[in-house]
Amino acid sequence: MNLTLSPSHNMLPLTLDGSTGEGGGQILRTGLALSMVTGRPLHITRIRAGRPKPGLMRQHLACVQAAAAVCGGQADGAELNSQALQFTPGTVRGGDYRFQIATAGSCLLVLQTVLPALMLADGESRVQLLGGTHNPMAPPFDFLERAFAPLVRRLGVGLELQLLRRGFFPAGGGELVAHITPPLSTAQPLAPVDVMERGPLQNAWCEAVAPGLARSIVPRELETLGQRMGWTCEAGQLRQPPTRQNEGPGNALIATLEHAHITEVFCQLGERSLSAEQVAKRLANEVHAYQRSQGALGPHLADQWMLPLALAVWRSGRAASYTCTEATPHTQTNAQTIALGLPVQVQITPVERALRVEVLPHG
Ligand code: AMP
Repeated sequence: MNLTLSPSHNMLPLTLDGSTGEGGGQILRTGLALSMVTGRPLHITRIRAGRPKPGLMRQHLACVQAAAAVCGGQADGAELNSQALQFTPGTVRGGDYRFQIATAGSCLLVLQTVLPALMLADGESRVQLLGGTHNPMAPPFDFLERAFAPLVRRLGVGLELQLLRRGFFPAGGGELVAHITPPLSTAQPLAPVDVMERGPLQNAWCEAVAPGLARSIVPRELETLGQRMGWTCEAGQLRQPPTRQNEGPGNALIATLEHAHITEVFCQLGERSLSAEQVAKRLANEVHAYQRSQGALGPHLADQWMLPLALAVWRSGRAASYTCTEATPHTQTNAQTIALGLPVQVQITPVERALRVEVLPHG
């Protein structure tokens, strides 16, 4: 890759303390992505120190291995439960990749680890991922497809996602394919975009799937959600998308709000200890919280959008902003990590019934 680094962000290792702020896997994933795009080695200690089982779980190991594969990198300390890692990146190459994530780890988190590097690579990539597509504490496929990918495309990157089979925790067995096309010429850098307003609501609906589980779950979830949101089957707002062979068992309830300038997706997964009605109430509460704010991006999109946008700010030298409903610990921690890895600053300030996140080139 052709890289220009500012003097303050030379090839010194990027040193991260994994216990900072949120203290979860995101510090590792963002660190790996930053290391690959800048060429700086990554030294990370106290990995996931803020979690009940710290260190690298299979899910995180899969991210390290995927990162090493797309750039021919070297990783020391890439073992289960390891709390320190030294990652030396090589040259990122577009190409055909296949990653299988054991014990239903999230395909989407692995994809988000390698996407920043592959969207700046020397050519197109096709990434096949096998594992979980609807996992607790991870973005579900539908969120990446409808909320995250359209924003990435606005930077000038081609990103198409195809779900072949859902995979739920703990069985996994899901599959998806991502096609990533970097901007056409290296002379044309990523184009930063501002997303300050949602724009008018154009469409809103909810889908429920529960392959391999009791048939009563889907109608009960949709009915409860319909009552809370004022959505009906007749208006096409309560949907039961088809499930595929060999899917399940698992349950996802997913609400999509399509605004003129942004689409947001909220998801609740069924759990053994929760009734279908409780799952629906949780989702309605999430959607209502979004509706009470004026921020364009919801809590999860706000932390995940920051890295692709920061890359565009770095490559173009132009500042960009977005508004969001809240600055979660994930958002605040990602801001700190990104500012350590790239010559950018991230400022988060309150505005009317929202927060404004501004990413500025350094100096
Ligand atoms: P970590 O807990 O550090 O491994 O990071 C988890 C990531 O998953 C963060 O980027 C969260 O925003 C994201 N995430 C968790 N739940 C959801 C959800 N329901 N929808 C979208 N993203 C999510």
